Amino acid sequence: MDPLFPTLSAPHARATDEALRFGDRTLSHAELAAVSGALASRLRGAGRVAVWATPSLETAVAVVAALRAGVPAVPLNPKSGGSELAHIVADSAPSLLLAEPGVVLPQALADVTRLDVDMDVRDSGARPGTAFPEPDDPEAPALIVYTSGTTGPPKGAVLPRRAIAATLDALADAWQWTGDDVLVHALPLFHVHGLILGTLGPLRHGGSVRHLGRFGTEGVARELGAGATMLFGVPTMYHRIAEALPDEPELAKALAGARLLVSGSAALPVHDHERIAAATGRRVIERYGMTETLMNTSVRADGEPRAGAVGVPLPGVDLRLVDEAGEPLPADGPEAVGEIQVRGPNLFTEYLNRPDATAAAFAPGGWFRTGDMAVRDPDGYVRIVGRKATDLIKSGGYKIGAGEIENALLAHAGVREAAVTGEPDPDLGERIVAWVVPADAGAPPPAEELAAHVASSLAPHKRPRVVHYLEALPRNDMGKIMKRALGNGGGKA
Ligand code: ATP
Ligand code: MG
Repeated sequence: MDPLFPTLSAPHARATDEALRFGDRTLSHAELAAVSGALASRLRGAGRVAVWATPSLETAVAVVAALRAGVPAVPLNPKSGGSELAHIVADSAPSLLLAEPGVVLPQALADVTRLDVDMDVRDSGARPGTAFPEPDDPEAPALIVYTSGTTGPPKGAVLPRRAIAATLDALADAWQWTGDDVLVHALPLFHVHGLILGTLGPLRHGGSVRHLGRFGTEGVARELGAGATMLFGVPTMYHRIAEALPDEPELAKALAGARLLVSGSAALPVHDHERIAAATGRRVIERYGMTETLMNTSVRADGEPRAGAVGVPLPGVDLRLVDEAGEPLPADGPEAVGEIQVRGPNLFTEYLNRPDATAAAFAPGGWFRTGDMAVRDPDGYVRIVGRKATDLIKSGGYKIGAGEIENALLAHAGVREAAVTGEPDPDLGERIVAWVVPADAGAPPPAEELAAHVASSLAPHKRPRVVHYLEALPRNDMGKIMKRALGNGGGKA
């Protein structure tokens, strides 16, 4: 297999260009080649290594070094609680823990031998640009990334180098992503989005990434204003951007000048998509992926961005919608909701230590069951309706997706955040329940008004029967709404 990082494994025209910037610390491709090569030579044969994945140069270096050494890396979320860390460490059994020097690690990690990531190129003995042969086997485990834990305890998805290369190359095709691109983001480095797309992507393509440390609209405006070409974010970030745009003309100008604004990890509310388009003239494009499958679909850079749609299958990805019996829906059929199943070189190999879960995740023919429900526009654009387990409400003989009701609620001026679930109902089977964070806590919009608003913009049977008012929605580190923490309705999975 070709090397994952051409600029690191051989002399390269971009060697002295900036590759990584975290805050005010930077590394060129040549410096990264040297520090990661030095660390890689220490890791050879180490078994698995855990990485304390703070948003730092050290994390990027640790992961790149492990990939170059052929040692599977397990990124850990530094915000995880002790019991989650203990679960991941017991599950993945790392022989070493790579961390930023000086960082204090929690007790749950006390039994794992710590190795500080040494950034001092001069003392490393490695020569910048020195070729460091990557391992050959494209199927060998490269990263073990735990799922976000939105619907249950996180599972370790074993990702081979083949999947990482395939997804990054498919995105390069779809987004015309090259070494000339400078990416800005503030995503965490322990999930696929910030780590594989947001850090390994620029490195594979020979470009660069500027990590903001913490998300803030001023940082986005500054970096896009100073030549960054792409922005990756999760919907909560684009929501903050949409809220800030009326008061921050510099932000609107910077976004208008970007080459590509990309959202993923959860559905981007239509209301935010439209507000950003109105204020900047630019449409955010959505891509859809999972830890297990990496990226499946995207709006293409040369395609038409469409609010509420995640685009078309990426090159190499087979995608189908199936009905409840597992039968494929016709690709050119009438609009019908089905579960998304995918196949392709972008898929993981297995859940670590979970042969039961792995077997259950695949349908005959090697199709991965995503658990996500979608419809297709006549021209093939995929629209995610929600998750089969929590977002599909069976009410009064209808199958109703939570997402469109959430979008309708968010379009009401009195609603800041909204989530919709189903709860058992003797008449309807399930009734639609809305969880609303009002724009003004002192004057929440009455339930009848919200129900009428949904009934008029969608259809009467889609109106919420119950409205709960909250100060904030429960969200995980990726900003995803944890529906299982919302009363009974969200717990039905
Ligand atoms: P867990 O599997 O542990 O419950 P999770 O599914 O949230 O958590 P991830 O693998 O990080 O963990 O997320 C993948 C899921 O995120 C997808 O299955 C899908 O539901 C959602 N998702 C990702 N991108 C989008 C998008 N653009 N629009 C809507 N949903 C998305
Ligand atoms: Mg999942």
